[in-house]
Amino acid sequence: MKQELKQQLKDKYKIFSDINEVNISVGDGWYDVIDGGSQLIQEYLDKRPNMVVKVGQIKEKFGEMRFYVDGHVDEYINEIINTMEDASSSVCEKCGNICKEKIRTAGWVKTMCAPCYKEHTQEKVKWFQEIAKKKIDVIK
Ligand SMILES: [Zn+2]
Repeated sequence: MKQELKQQLKDKYKIFSDINEVNISVGDGWYDVIDGGSQLIQEYLDKRPNMVVKVGQIKEKFGEMRFYVDGHVDEYINEIINTMEDASSSVCEKCGNICKEKIRTAGWVKTMCAPCYKEHTQEKVKWFQEIAKKKIDVIK
């Protein structure tokens, strides 16, 4: 996720006050899901000053978001987190479009729409060719 988006989450929600930014390791496309869920959690906590909940890590696993928190997690907060994680599996992690299809390759599963996947693979092709060209240039 872009640095400015991570900073926006930290500026908006106290639940992000303790997180190390390297522990937010998902694509920009999931920002809206995180923003929406975090707002609900923060509003709930603001009315309950004795409850402390902090986001510890947000990552992707098998094409779905994992949203880890520390502290006093009750049924309400748990349900919001479950809903965010479920919703992420229908949203392209790269661009945020609704996308029901998963990209599956031998090594991984990603929730990514077809245009983003195409762009993603083209970036990899370019990356490879740049490395290859550097090696070839040395031979010439
Ligand atoms: Zn996309």
